Amino acid sequence: MTSILVSCISSIFPSLKCHLFEPSQKMIWTIVGKHHEYWIDLDLEYCSCNDYYFRTLSGQGLCYHLGFAKEKINSKVDTIHFSDSEYCDFVKSIVNDNYLMIRNETGELI
Ligand SMILES: [Zn+2]
Repeated sequence: MTSILVSCISSIFPSLKCHLFEPSQKMIWTIVGKHHEYWIDLDLEYCSCNDYYFRTLSGQGLCYHLGFAKEKINSKVDTIHFSDSEYCDFVKSIVNDNYLMIRNETGELI
């Protein structure tokens, strides 16, 4: 019973998603953690989580999300298809979400 529960939870968190824009084939990757959905870029080794700023940028290794994504990138990944016409609004939305997440976590305007 416990192994089934653990298996179900691990399939939900974290969850790697590819947002594929067509016809350009531009991709934006996100990973859903326990509390937030983070924007990641594997080529740049960037993640929008706090651990990235405190751990990765100080040379202590990849954050959990980047490590997980690198392991799973060649596995079956949820792919959500969008039109290129939705690209700008999607980027604005993800930037805004990350701004609000940082603002709420710090309690300050940045
Ligand atoms: Zn991260």
